[in-house]
Amino acid sequence: MLSLRQRLTLWYVMILTLVLLVSGSFWYLSLAHGLRDSVDARLRDVATQSLKTLHSSDELECRVLMHHLSEDLGFGEFIDILDTRTGQSCLSSNLIYSSGLGRLGEYVSAEIDAPEFETFTQIDPPLRIFRTMANEKGSKHFLIQVAATMEAAELALQKLVYILLMSIPLVLAGASFCGWFLARKALDPVDQITQAVRKINASSLNKRLPRIDSNDEIGRLIDTFNSMLSRLEDSFQKISQFSGDASHELRTPLTIIRGEIEVAMRWAKDIDEFKQVLRSNMEEVDLMTRIIEDLLTLSKSEKGNAPLVLQEFNLTDLIQQLHWQTRVLGEEKNISIELKLEVSEEVMIRGDELRLRRLFLNLISNAIKYNNDGGDVCISLGLHDGNAIVHIRDTGFGIPESDLPHIFERFYRVDKARNRAVGGTGLGLAIVKSIVEAHEGSIQVQSSAEQGSDFMVSLPLQGPKDTE
Ligand code: ADP
Repeated sequence: MLSLRQRLTLWYVMILTLVLLVSGSFWYLSLAHGLRDSVDARLRDVATQSLKTLHSSDELECRVLMHHLSEDLGFGEFIDILDTRTGQSCLSSNLIYSSGLGRLGEYVSAEIDAPEFETFTQIDPPLRIFRTMANEKGSKHFLIQVAATMEAAELALQKLVYILLMSIPLVLAGASFCGWFLARKALDPVDQITQAVRKINASSLNKRLPRIDSNDEIGRLIDTFNSMLSRLEDSFQKISQFSGDASHELRTPLTIIRGEIEVAMRWAKDIDEFKQVLRSNMEEVDLMTRIIEDLLTLSKSEKGNAPLVLQEFNLTDLIQQLHWQTRVLGEEKNISIELKLEVSEEVMIRGDELRLRRLFLNLISNAIKYNNDGGDVCISLGLHDGNAIVHIRDTGFGIPESDLPHIFERFYRVDKARNRAVGGTGLGLAIVKSIVEAHEGSIQVQSSAEQGSDFMVSLPLQGPKDTE
């Protein structure tokens, strides 16, 4: 397993090798091409010169001809003029006395219809040949063949190959070092972040990575990390607050049960006194059961283990039923519950009927619980902009402004003593909020101490979008 730094360097070197090989081949080919072109141009020149010297002679006067031509021939250049009628051939002196005469003669005296330019690679160094027929009147039967060794070109190409072979590894070595250095420089801050992150654990979530003064990738990574730490710290705090609250909530009834049992064991004399204690114990057990059930409901909906059962149903009917059922609860405290339907037709909504029933029941029972004897509760149903609007107003204790932002938190109670008396679990509004959010609706509260409260729930009639 290679580190990111090693992989970056490796990639860099591989790409550079490819680029150098491609460009080296390109240089080699263009040089080879250029050299051959210049040899070809020279051969054409010599052939033109030969043509001029031939004039319009009819006979091959070899000695005279070569005397003129040999002066212009460079090292490694040869001429062979062939009289195609007689088969007589006139060779430049360097060709005659060349040690490889037989072989050169053999190659040069090729057929008349052979290609204009040809390279013979069977001999070393290779030989480049140009052939042309004399086109002057009267001398048309002469085949002029000019040849040159490619020695100089070969040498130049060999030199280029040596230079490339020497320089490519050097360039690659230098580039690998630079690549490694650059990758190290670029990744150093990542290493520092890793070190800093390693030091952060559950008990030091309040630590933050040192902010750098730049908005580049590393700066953004640090910002993202710090904001993630803030969210983690927040959730950790909520979890520990929640587990503290939950154990406290469950410990209180248990302490009461234990205390009552101890008292009964010590002092109770007859069966009625025991029954009294058991009845009180039963109430505390009921409370604990409600707390645990509410917690389960919340945790299920948070984990998504309890998906909504969506269907279209009549919200007007539901509100009317709830109004009818809760009137009985209100009667105990002499509270009148009024229903106001602010819509002419029935309101059809897409949602989970059981959960919405629970939502409104929690709000109505709170309006009764936290109300004065003889107070009023008003339930109203209206429509606005594709949303069903349900208000639950009461004339009860109200909620002080400082408590309003917290009432949807788990186990939050405004008045703990009063709350215990009415038997609340402190989870009712948290459940309300989770149901409203699952339906992509909203809930708002207007309240002030001793003035009563107004809970307004708004739910989209077409139901939550992403579960469609
Ligand atoms: P509980 O189960 O204890 O009623 P909730 O989550 O339903 O818990 O409510 C949280 C707190 O908000 C309650 O303890 C109560 O103090 C306050 N509250 C809720 N509804 C009302 C209301 N209609 N009027 C006054 N206070 C309320």
